[in-house]
Amino acid sequence: MARAFLGLGSNLGDKETYLREAVATFTDLDAVSGLYETDPIGGVEQDSYLNIVIELSTERNSRELLEHGQTLERKANRERKIRWGPRTLDVDVLWVENEEINDPDLTVPHPRMKERAFVMVPLGELAPEFLKDWEDPNDGEVRRIKDW
Ligand code: ATP
Ligand code: CA
Ligand code: CA
Repeated sequence: MARAFLGLGSNLGDKETYLREAVATFTDLDAVSGLYETDPIGGVEQDSYLNIVIELSTERNSRELLEHGQTLERKANRERKIRWGPRTLDVDVLWVENEEINDPDLTVPHPRMKERAFVMVPLGELAPEFLKDWEDPNDGEVRRIKDW
């Protein structure tokens, strides 16, 4: 069994429902962070996001988790138009115990997670050790709305 963390986000349509339906599919789910509303970053004009981080206790490896996430994105009818543009669902593999992957289509740990308060703040709720050497980039507001 490995510990793993995934970051989920939505900023289009019924955002919370997209997140809830995605979370419900994880049979290896261990914990869910609070629900956060966050400012979009990356320069594209778009609605605010809802973000969560989930913790798994899993037999699956990073690639299997990536594939599960991509299946969920397809089920949410995600369309790929502009990079970092609006989406119904985004599932990123953040960190998987004892795994370091550098493939063209998969990098784990996620290379940009530390630049993002909307990832690190919810992650820190579940695993405070990740915040030890982390400097908050202050790249937009991250508001905790409620417990999951
Ligand atoms: P970012 O990766 O900066 O958060 P994004 O989530 O908007 O941007 P996507 O369009 O969702 O980017 O994904 C682009 C590609 O990133 C995916 O097709 C996937 O193959 C690849 N990828 C690489 N590493 C990971 C990872 N750790 N988790 C999820 N996708 C990854
Ligand atoms: Ca992402
Ligand atoms: Ca992604």
